[in-house]
Amino acid sequence: MPELPEVETIVRGLRARLTGRRVKAFVFLSPHLEKKQVPGSFRPEIYQGRKITGIRRRGKMIIISFDGQLGLLVHLKMTGQLFLTDAGQKMDKHTHACLKFYRFKKELRFRDIRKFGFVNCLALTRIEEKINRDLGPEPLSLSLAGFKLLLNKHGQKRLKNWLLDQKIIAGIGNIYSDEILFRARLNPFRLAGSLDEKEAGRLFQSARRVLKEAISLKGSSISDYVDALGNRGGFQKRHQVYAREGKNCLRCRQEKIIRRKINGRSTYFCPACQS
Ligand SMILES: [Zn+2]
Repeated sequence: MPELPEVETIVRGLRARLTGRRVKAFVFLSPHLEKKQVPGSFRPEIYQGRKITGIRRRGKMIIISFDGQLGLLVHLKMTGQLFLTDAGQKMDKHTHACLKFYRFKKELRFRDIRKFGFVNCLALTRIEEKINRDLGPEPLSLSLAGFKLLLNKHGQKRLKNWLLDQKIIAGIGNIYSDEILFRARLNPFRLAGSLDEKEAGRLFQSARRVLKEAISLKGSSISDYVDALGNRGGFQKRHQVYAREGKNCLRCRQEKIIRRKINGRSTYFCPACQS
């Protein structure tokens, strides 16, 4: 699933190329996207003639703003892709929505093999309400004090679950939670409220460092992820624990990385380095 660094990379690519462009047509190509509209949603036709005024990320979601206070809220979930391609390029059966522009050769497509993702057509105020209700703060905007407050407030959660809970902190998923905990040398089963000052500081710094480095490398390409132009990311080469079960730990070089399930999610860690 694309996480904060992947979604941020997509958003930056789209923002640079689509801001200010006017919509020629917006269509859903698959009935499942219609079914996922929430009450009060607009029809796709309403976007025709509107200009894109901004594109931003919040957690793992993408918000496209149009003039007239309209927005699109996009969640890629497991296998969703949002990318620009030449208008003449053939579409496959996994392409579920398409946005065309005036005076621009490329079009924006939403492709999603497993169909867990959605594109909701809502007023910007509704989108704002929804994201503020569903999402905690952004890890890269949070202060150390704010971060510690959240650790204590949700102190009974295991660190892995604490990092994954979008309502506590937004944007981190299975890959980056493992990488963050490994670099912070913290065991994923520890309770959030059990960290001392030093450990909380290590977790905070590790989250910032891992997410920033991953953004600078344009995310991790595992399975379907590609950026707005169809390019793969580079952070998968820097993964130190994720999907490395049975391989030697890159820090102590003695223990092997193990995999355990926490709340049904595979979690990779070094039993010696992470305490
Ligand atoms: Zn180790």
